Amino acid sequence: MSSDPAQEAGALGGGNGQLQEIGIDGTAAGPGRPAREEAEAAVRTLLRWAGDDADREGLRDTPARVARAWEEFFAGYAIDPKALLERTFSETEGYDEMVLLRDIRFESHCEHHLAPIIGCAHVAYLPKHRVVGISKLVRVVEAFARRLQIQEKMTVQIANTINDVLEPNGVAVVVEAAHQCMTTRGVHKPGVSMVTSCMLGQFRSNASTRREFLSLVGTPQGTSNHHA
Ligand SMILES: [Zn+2]
Repeated sequence: MSSDPAQEAGALGGGNGQLQEIGIDGTAAGPGRPAREEAEAAVRTLLRWAGDDADREGLRDTPARVARAWEEFFAGYAIDPKALLERTFSETEGYDEMVLLRDIRFESHCEHHLAPIIGCAHVAYLPKHRVVGISKLVRVVEAFARRLQIQEKMTVQIANTINDVLEPNGVAVVVEAAHQCMTTRGVHKPGVSMVTSCMLGQFRSNASTRREFLSLVGTPQGTSNHHA
């Protein structure tokens, strides 16, 4: 958790060319990417569409602030999640038991309403040959969370990335989150959280391994459908 994600992406990017995406921070701007001024003008349009006066003092700097906030919210596009996991440690003394990182808090945004998704992820894997620094697992979660998401896709992306790079004996990911598009609009149901999971390898094939993981994580409460 030491360095800035964008910096890290810059340092590691281009490694194997996987998942090279256009970054919102301008480091990897593609031909179709609008200029900052255009983004700010779009925010101004929305302010006026909401019914307010975009020129009043309180709103004058809002388009610039929103653009800066979006750079933070969507910093994940500039990060190659696979590159984050490429530095591994092989001197593990044969450790092949579960490595579990619990309660990784994240903030994301739903791709349907741009509303915040706030929750936590539990990530586990069964090392075969290599282990990775645990902060890297946090960074993989962040790299996918800081994009426009649906929770189901994010859960699978995290699991597949760990599976593809570390090639472990199994990967398990459980994500629990509250969707503000459900709590502040639409059905207006606060207190509902959505739980998604992805089990690969031995977590899928071996019921006792899966049970051990789920008991360590604690049984997630309150499953619900997104966008009910
Ligand atoms: Zn939504």
